[in-house]
Amino acid sequence: MAKIGFIGLGNMGGGMALNLAKAGHDVVAFDLAEAALARAKDGGCRIAGSAVDAGKDVEAIITMLPAGKHVAGVYEELFGVIAPGTLLIDCSTIDVATARANAEKAAALGFEAVDAPVSGGIAAANGGTLTFMVGGTDGAFAKAEPILAKMGKAVIHAGASGAGQSAKICNNLILASQMIGTCEGLALAVRLGLDPQTFFDIASKATGQSWSLNSYCPLPGVGPESPADRGYEGGFAAGLMLKDLKLALAAAHGVDAAVPMGSAAESLYQAFANSGGGGKDFSAIIGFLDGKLPG
Ligand code: NAD
Repeated sequence: MAKIGFIGLGNMGGGMALNLAKAGHDVVAFDLAEAALARAKDGGCRIAGSAVDAGKDVEAIITMLPAGKHVAGVYEELFGVIAPGTLLIDCSTIDVATARANAEKAAALGFEAVDAPVSGGIAAANGGTLTFMVGGTDGAFAKAEPILAKMGKAVIHAGASGAGQSAKICNNLILASQMIGTCEGLALAVRLGLDPQTFFDIASKATGQSWSLNSYCPLPGVGPESPADRGYEGGFAAGLMLKDLKLALAAAHGVDAAVPMGSAAESLYQAFANSGGGGKDFSAIIGFLDGKLPG
């Protein structure tokens, strides 16, 4: 089993670090928040006093931090002190450009680095059922894969450095547009007098089917259990969807890609967040789009 440094023990990283410890890895964990450190300690991790202490003398360092500037800052601290050959695995969702720049700096200094963002929310992080999309060389992927497998149900090599982040934001660009379309279709069906369950039974078997409808229906009491049945709590926050849409639009701008649906989705999620919905599950946008429905 490997000795692993884990930096960033928040909503996602907290559960991920515990799953590595549960699998028998020697996990040296660090976060700026005391409560996060206490949870990691209770779950079998050793606690470091700083990011540098977590990263010294380990085979791999995992980061699960809010944004690109946090990852770049921690890497700057680590680069001067960690052992050559240490594998850097960044599971945060960050911009493609920073992910590529981090990998280039790491390679120049003799480290291997992969970007490995995740699909799946807090429940998947706690349950060890995340999907990892990995960008990096074949050699770095081969080393990262068995570690990531202890925290997820699927580990997929997306391509070279930055490809994991690219896959993540393109996936969420699809998801956001799909969710808004699903909300619009459901809301219209209700206004036209259709029974929501009957419409679900039809559309979930017809060409309107999608993950947003079939597995994550934004109306309470319809379809399999989803955040809508829990007051739109405990899923994927609208504020995080907005963050990913902004990353997708920035990446699209950089390569001249046309993303009119993505732009519309970003505007709608921005308006929803401005109205106070950023902390709710992203499916709660149904109530924002149609004032008569819950959300
Ligand atoms: P979070 O805010 O709960 O956790 C981030 C943690 O990083 C915090 O505990 C914070 O104290 C710590 N931190 C910040 N700067 C630090 C530093 N310099 N050194 C050490 N610790 C530091 O966020 P989260 O929900 O766990 O998300 C983490 C990443 O995962 C984000 O990039 C997010 O976009 C992505 N993500 C989140 C979800 C989700 O459902 N929450 C799903 C998929 C991906």
